[in-house]
Amino acid sequence: MGGEILVLRNSVVNWTFRWLLQFVENGKQELAKSLSYPTSAAAWESFKRDTGLLPEVAARALYLAWYAKQLGGVTLELESAYRSPAYQLELQRRWDSGNRAGLISRPASSSKHTEGRAFDIGIVGPDPSKELWEGLGRLGEALGLRWGGRFPSPDPVHFDY
Ligand SMILES: [Zn+2]
Repeated sequence: MGGEILVLRNSVVNWTFRWLLQFVENGKQELAKSLSYPTSAAAWESFKRDTGLLPEVAARALYLAWYAKQLGGVTLELESAYRSPAYQLELQRRWDSGNRAGLISRPASSSKHTEGRAFDIGIVGPDPSKELWEGLGRLGEALGLRWGGRFPSPDPVHFDY
């Protein structure tokens, strides 16, 4: 499993987008076919490996970043994706000990992050407005993701599938 943190580079998004379209619309089989294009296969495989996200989740993360860039000129970073269960517990302990840097709410014991089904984003640039988070949340929901901004204890950086 790859790194716990990965910065989403625009080049990766652009490289991969064409094949993601086919993937999301037609499912895995079409993806396998489209992956016969050598450049995309490498980018796609390394994105999945580095993030540890399941394909259907990785595709949506890339979509979200692509749309945010195209529609809003907003560059997203992936702050966190797959987390090992041990790392998830470590985050919980950090929160409980009062060291909450980078954490918005107490990490759950059972998390979609440990299943490769969740990712947290950051927005590059000045402090984003509430409206921008709302917009990204709705964008994510349009892609079939669940947005953490609607959780009882809101976690707007979080998306899962
Ligand atoms: Zn999260």
